[in-house]
Amino acid sequence: MKTVDEHISDIQNSVRVLTARRQPLAAAQGCVLAVDVRATVALPGFDNAAMDGYAVRAADVEQATPEAPVRLPVTGEIAAGAARVTPVEPGTAVRIMTGAPFPLGADTVIQLEWTDGGTETVAVHRPAPRGLHIRRAGEDIAPGDLVLPAGALLGAAQIGLLAAVNVARPPVHPRPRVAVLSTGSELVDVGTAIGPGQIVDSNSHAVAAAAREAGCEVRRLTGVPDDPAEFSAVLRAVLPEVDAVVTTGGVSVGAHDVVKEALAATGEVRFERIAMQPGKPQGFGVIDGVAVFTLPGNPVSALVSFELFVRPALRRMRGLPGPDRARPLVTVADRLTSPPGKRSFPRVRVGYGADGALVAHSAGGQGSHHMSTLAGANALLVVPEDVTQVEAGDRLTAILLASQEADAPLAEAVRGAPDLAVAGISALGANA
Ligand code: AMP
Ligand code: MG
Repeated sequence: MKTVDEHISDIQNSVRVLTARRQPLAAAQGCVLAVDVRATVALPGFDNAAMDGYAVRAADVEQATPEAPVRLPVTGEIAAGAARVTPVEPGTAVRIMTGAPFPLGADTVIQLEWTDGGTETVAVHRPAPRGLHIRRAGEDIAPGDLVLPAGALLGAAQIGLLAAVNVARPPVHPRPRVAVLSTGSELVDVGTAIGPGQIVDSNSHAVAAAAREAGCEVRRLTGVPDDPAEFSAVLRAVLPEVDAVVTTGGVSVGAHDVVKEALAATGEVRFERIAMQPGKPQGFGVIDGVAVFTLPGNPVSALVSFELFVRPALRRMRGLPGPDRARPLVTVADRLTSPPGKRSFPRVRVGYGADGALVAHSAGGQGSHHMSTLAGANALLVVPEDVTQVEAGDRLTAILLASQEADAPLAEAVRGAPDLAVAGISALGANA
């Protein structure tokens, strides 16, 4: 049997980062920058006031005290957006607003709170060092500076910075377009009546959600029956429109293993048995440049396989480093058995124990159909191939599944250990 690591590296070696194209900022959010972006403008673009107040010469208010304020005539006002700014004469003040261009002649902003706020004349109560409250042109970014490097993931701050330096359509690696295709003649779509022997197609929803979480645009194709010709027709039709296809079901050794029947003969997809539990039967291939992942049908197997094999590949296509999840060592709290010769991934809840160490509790029944266990878990424990018995107290690696938005169980555990919460969460967050 092939190892998990061999399968991961075969897949990672077969997928390519998607060709970059320019996208408007809203569409670029969550994408990876494809080139170094250098500034063509300065940030700030011009000297401007950092406070509402008065533009003055510091020397003119040197002697100011609350008891003996310095009075200066106010000769004008400069608002944000002012295009023409008259210079400030010695011994005078100009009212100025935050963000307004700073005038020649003056060298300091006296904040409004240090004055009487006068409009004809102003009484200044305190002196100020020269240059106070002036934001200098280019002090954040100078023309020619590197704004963001190729490979930067565009979140809110990066999108804001690109906008500030007037980049409207940065070149980014696009979100992979993923078709999720579930197979099985027993499947009905969610929200419809369930007949005898039928089950709701949950995989296509789960895998579609996982692909969206992985930053993809998803098309969901539900319940393709166990008919190889029909499956092939659906697959071929969608191939030209996507970067990846993820199928579930029909890859084991049953009588109606539709995906295998349709694709094994052409050799485009290699069907293999991977030394793992859950998720032993796997297929992967590249058809017409499209990465095709054929995952097993059991719901837990499908999502665990997605996590291990598909998610890193989709990240690679996005221009990100493949694996992203934090993988801390945890102390196992419950006894667990594991099949010999296979790497198993029991579903666990990881939280902080009394001593501050991370502890993993079994999240429930470990069958590959136990969907509630997976839904209640926030991590997969990694039990090595040569371990068949995990004892309470053993230390093993866990793959934290929790996204920052969805790590409620971890946050809940953390509440009991407030001192550790900040360090622990930020350590995980940095990696997650
Ligand atoms: P298969 O790999 O097609 O033999 O399916 C294995 C098990 O997973 C069977 O019990 C199927 O009914 C179940 N299954 C397959 N596809 C889905 C699906 N889309 N949603 C929920 N369960 C599924
Ligand atoms: Mg099936």
